[in-house]
Amino acid sequence: MPDIKENVPLAPYTTFKIGGPAEYFAVAESEEGLAALAGYARQRRQPITILGGGSNVLISDAGIKGLVIKIDIRGLEHQEEGREVRLSVGAGESWDDLVAYSVERGWWGIENLSAIPGTVGAAPIQNIGAYGTDVSSAIQSVRAYDLDAERFVELSVADCAFSYRDSIFKTEAGRRLVVTRVEYRLGLEATPVLRYQDLADRFAGDLAPTAAAIRAAVIDIRAGKFPDLARYGTAGSFFKNPIIPKEAYDALKARYPELPGFPEVDGRVKVSLGWILDKVCGLKGARQGQVGTFERQSLVMVNHGGATATEVKAFARRVEEEVFQRSGISIEWEVNAL
Ligand code: NAP
Repeated sequence: MPDIKENVPLAPYTTFKIGGPAEYFAVAESEEGLAALAGYARQRRQPITILGGGSNVLISDAGIKGLVIKIDIRGLEHQEEGREVRLSVGAGESWDDLVAYSVERGWWGIENLSAIPGTVGAAPIQNIGAYGTDVSSAIQSVRAYDLDAERFVELSVADCAFSYRDSIFKTEAGRRLVVTRVEYRLGLEATPVLRYQDLADRFAGDLAPTAAAIRAAVIDIRAGKFPDLARYGTAGSFFKNPIIPKEAYDALKARYPELPGFPEVDGRVKVSLGWILDKVCGLKGARQGQVGTFERQSLVMVNHGGATATEVKAFARRVEEEVFQRSGISIEWEVNAL
C-alpha cells in the first residue's frame, strides 16, 4: 500500500502553480497500488480526487478534502502488427515523451500533438488535439479502474465517447473511471496532416516531410505562441473554442467579416475564441491583479506570480461575460476545476 501523507500543498503539482492542500495525498505507481488506495479511502468514506500531470486543472484555494491520488503508473511496450505498431503505455508516462519516442522510430499518428504538457492518462480525458489531429484517432482502447465497481475495465474507442476536447471521462457517469493504461495504434506509413495554416506554411512545397520534421515544426510554432512553463504558471488554453450553430456564425460573420470559422461535420461551425478575445473583446494581454490572458495567445490564461484560484475564477467570469455580451456565445472552460 503506497504511503499516505497529510496536508500536502498541491500548487507544486500543477502547472498553474495555484491551489490549497490535499487533506490526504498518495502516489499510485501501479494498478494494485491504486486499487489499494481506493479501498482505503472507501472504508474511511473519504472522497477520491485523481491527479495526473496537473497541467489542465485549477485547484481551489481551500484545497481538496479526502484523498488525492497522483497517478504515476509507468511502462511502455510495443509490437509491430502488419503496417501498424501497437503500444501499451502506463497512464503516468509523460505524453510528450511518448510522442518523442514514437517519432524517433518513424511511427505516425501523434506527431502533431507534440509539446503538449501532461500525462498519457490525461490525454484521452479531454481528447487532446492540435493542428488537425486528436488523440482519439490513435487510441485503440483505454484501461481504467472503476472506483464504484472496484474492478478494472477496458473501454473501446466507442465506449470513450470522444468528441471535441471531451470524452466519457469528463461526464458524471465517467468520473468514477481512473485511466491506468492506454493502448495506441500508430502507422508505419507516412500520413502527414498539414492542413492547418501554421503547418502548411512551414512545409509549403515539401511533399514528404518526416514525422520528426513535423514534430520539430510543431514544437517551434508552439514555443512562439504558448507560455514557457518555467516562466509562467498556466494551464494552457483556459476555454474551449466554441462550436456554434451556422446561423449564429453567419450573423457574427456579418458583423466581423474576418472571423475565422471552421465547419463541423454536423453543420455547426467552430470559431476561434482567441480571435474573438483579441479582435472583438480587446482582451489580448489583459490583466486583473496577478491573472491575465497571455500576450501572444489570449486563449491561454497566465498566473503572473502568486495568483489565487479565486482571482482566476473572477477573471474567467469577466471574460465569459464580455464574450457573451459582444458575441452572444456562452463559452466553456477547458480547464477542470477541482
Ligand atoms: P489555431 O491553430 O490558431 O486555431 C484556432 C482555432 O481555429 C481552433 O479552434 C482550431 O481548431 C481552428 N482551426 C484553425 N485551422 C483550422 C483548420 N484548418 N481546420 C479546422 N479548424 C481549424 O490555434 P492555436 O491556439 O494556435 O493552437 C494550435 C493548436 O493547438 C490548435 O489545434 C489548438 O486547438 C491546439 N491546442 C490544444 C489544446 C488542448 O488540447 N488542450 C490546448 C492548446 C492548443 P482546433 O481547436 O480543432 O484545432
